[in-house]
Amino acid sequence: MADTSAAVVLVTGGSGLVGKGIEHIINTEPVGSRFGKRPNETWIFATSSEADLRDPDQTRKLFGKYKPTHVIHLAAMVGGLFKNMKYKLTFLRDNVLMNDNVLHTACERQTQKVISCLSTCVFPDKVEYPLDETKIHLGPPHSSNFGYAHAKRLVDVQNHAYKEEFGCNFTSAIPTNVFGPHDNFDLEGAHVIPALIHKCYLAKKNNTPFIVAGTGKPLRQFIYSYDLAKLFIWQLREYDDVEPVILSVGEDEEVSIKDVADAIVKAVDFKGEYAFDTTRADGQFRKPASNKKLLELMGGFEFTPFDQALKASVKWFLDNYNDART
Ligand code: NDP
Repeated sequence: MADTSAAVVLVTGGSGLVGKGIEHIINTEPVGSRFGKRPNETWIFATSSEADLRDPDQTRKLFGKYKPTHVIHLAAMVGGLFKNMKYKLTFLRDNVLMNDNVLHTACERQTQKVISCLSTCVFPDKVEYPLDETKIHLGPPHSSNFGYAHAKRLVDVQNHAYKEEFGCNFTSAIPTNVFGPHDNFDLEGAHVIPALIHKCYLAKKNNTPFIVAGTGKPLRQFIYSYDLAKLFIWQLREYDDVEPVILSVGEDEEVSIKDVADAIVKAVDFKGEYAFDTTRADGQFRKPASNKKLLELMGGFEFTPFDQALKASVKWFLDNYNDART
């Protein structure tokens, strides 16, 4: 069990969707509770302006400044389907560099524990469902995101190699699609939920149709960033094994993109014309992931209902439109 008494926990990617979720939970859950801050813990949320983790010297300086005992490594080049298809080499290279610098520096400094972040997008395209933690390397990823996928898969390979050669306590988490406050709402680069929230908001404001890319039929599992934050905090404190853990709602909780769009239309209170552009790519039809390992290890977890979490995310976007990443 990781000892987090007098821990300094460095969260890379601290300004992003997931990092902000962890910061929120650490600061709002009761001190000393399962997901709240422990009295002797210090939490640092780092951004790219403090250190560009593609650069080994800046990475070393960041570790030298805070001397973390534990690291939750979230920093990454992240994006939705269309951005992934356009910038495959940049996704591969930037993520390989960041991951290599963080893990190498953590090993050099004998950091007690590192959790890095993979994604269910990195699993093989052709694989038996549901996805589980044993299937990451069982075939090539979907061609739409092979740069991102190979960079992320390599983290699991590195974790095993660091453990075997140097005894490092490095592991990884595999979230499904995340959404919540502080998401990236940029219309070109965003994931499906924030992109649709922004589009629907603009359609309402400009009195134009709300057009959803694709058929609306693909199914996905979505996790609210505040729920995911609790799962990361659990993994940091209570899980010590190199094998990854899928952090997700259950495979019986898939929702279609049409369900998502319907819920957004409701939450934004959009009354105009609403249609699907079936000439646009859909991506993988479905890729259900099992959260059995997680629930067995945690002894159960209560996820926020999807509609409630979506409503809160839309409210955050509307309240913070001027400061949000758009
Ligand atoms: P965001 O895009 O919201 O945030 C990315 C974070 O990474 C930001 O804090 C950003 O810092 C930081 N970052 C980017 N480039 C660099 C760099 N060169 N050096 C240092 N920091 C950098 O991402 P999310 O919060 O959505 O993702 C967090 C993790 O979760 C990632 O590893 C991602 O792969 C994974 N994930 C995300 C999913 C999702 O649906 N969002 C799904 C599954 C996994 P700054 O703000 O300063 O630029």
